[in-house]
Amino acid sequence: MNLEKLLVPVGFLQISPELCKGCGFCIEFCPRNVLEFSEDVNSRGYHYPIIRKGMEMSCSACGMCQRICPDYAIYLEKVEKIPAKKVIR
Ligand code: SF4
Ligand code: SF4
Repeated sequence: MNLEKLLVPVGFLQISPELCKGCGFCIEFCPRNVLEFSEDVNSRGYHYPIIRKGMEMSCSACGMCQRICPDYAIYLEKVEKIPAKKVIR
């Protein structure tokens, strides 16, 4: 397989910390293990999801986090097709 030509989808997330209630569903069910809880808390005292260091290009854009979030606090802002060799999986 020619990895120079193979393009794969990479998702870029929008996270709204103030909407999050810290349930952790998005973190638990991400198949790529892209997310973790923040050290900071929002104004209601909840830890919210952040992208794990080094995983900025690892979201496969499956959409699970935005489907499972009960508070619409996380969604895919855009999806780009990027050469597979540049993507850390
Ligand atoms: S879109 Fe899928 S891979 Fe990307 S962060 Fe959400 S659950 Fe994880
Ligand atoms: S699923 Fe939504 S409410 Fe729950 S931790 Fe993730 S962003 Fe916050």
